[in-house]
Amino acid sequence: MDTQSFKRSLHQSDRYNRRGFGSPTKRAQALEKVYQSSLIGSIRDNGYLLEHGRLKVKLAEAFGFCWGVERAVAMAYETRRHYPNERIWITNEIIHNPSVNDHLRKMNVRFIAAEKGVKDFSGVENGDVVILPAFGATVQEMQLLHERGCHIIDTTCPWVSKVWHTVEKHKKHTFTSIIHGKYKHEETLATSSFAGTYLVVLDLEEAQYVSDYILGNGNREDFLLRFSKASSPCFDPDKDLASIGVANQTTMLKSETEEIGRLFELTMLRRYGPEKLNDHFLAFNTICDATEERQGAMFSLVDEPLDMLVVIGGFNSSNTTHLQEIAISRGLRSFHIDTPERIGEVDNTISHMPLGKSLVKEDSFLPKGKVSVGITSGASTPDRVVEDVIQKLMKLSDMNV
Ligand code: SF4
Repeated sequence: MDTQSFKRSLHQSDRYNRRGFGSPTKRAQALEKVYQSSLIGSIRDNGYLLEHGRLKVKLAEAFGFCWGVERAVAMAYETRRHYPNERIWITNEIIHNPSVNDHLRKMNVRFIAAEKGVKDFSGVENGDVVILPAFGATVQEMQLLHERGCHIIDTTCPWVSKVWHTVEKHKKHTFTSIIHGKYKHEETLATSSFAGTYLVVLDLEEAQYVSDYILGNGNREDFLLRFSKASSPCFDPDKDLASIGVANQTTMLKSETEEIGRLFELTMLRRYGPEKLNDHFLAFNTICDATEERQGAMFSLVDEPLDMLVVIGGFNSSNTTHLQEIAISRGLRSFHIDTPERIGEVDNTISHMPLGKSLVKEDSFLPKGKVSVGITSGASTPDRVVEDVIQKLMKLSDMNV
């Protein structure tokens, strides 16, 4: 499909809106009322430090709601006000945060149901309003909704759209897009729908496997099996890896995306030589600023003298998981939670999600005596949620001296 010309015609439609309905200033003020926290404001003013009896809390210097998420959430609220009586749907969670999604449900915004990764649009009717979330939607979903006569409110973050432009450039030059991401993640599903030929690599280890194949050290059957769900239809590694461009899911670990880019550049250099490199390798920077800032702040935070770290964000939030990875790489005791309710203030327990595992409950969460806790949160987490976690820690420290 010519995705660029489809987008052009969609953007000209009077049933398509990607600017929202209010002024950006009013939008920011409305969100402040609902999600901002005075406690967090005062901790920020105090050098990101809170001291409460035996408890010391050190906040990361960049955390929480990013610009793209704030904009998406505010546009969703505006949509409800603008269409008070229409049926409003959203193609997925607006962002990966349970409290924000619950808030939308209470405003009677319906979520498109999905089973085993397949969404059911059968209930969506002509004239309905459909919101596309911050991490976008596939071009096929947009086409379906447009043809059905829906009003589309597109809150896709411009950083995500930038990645779509990048893979479209790869497609135009008949380059294969190598996307650093999680092939099942909504953002990567959307990005790959705009690409021509593509391959999704999860991490450096998978990228190395692909690099080895390009250099003639691989097994075709093994390759096809490994990437059967993470490549475009009829992907042929012997043909489709001759010219490649790198793009990424905006919330991946920045340092890893950069290493993957360098690895593939070197691979094509070795395979084709410096004179022909530009015919075989294209690189664009598609890392989002907010992700970069939050990861940078986390690297500084883990250098502080801390007893433990609490990372707050949805369990399916990619950027939160990467913050947790940074803590783990330093061997710090760390806990990924999605809501303050995961901390049991009566019995001093915490229910948390260790990386790549299921939820576990741990006793003796806050140790006795002086304790320093580092805190950060993913781009989809409002400050109010971070405040509630800190309040719980303060109560625990008072009770459990
Ligand atoms: S994390 Fe980056 S790409 Fe994702 S919504 Fe925020 S600003 Fe946009």
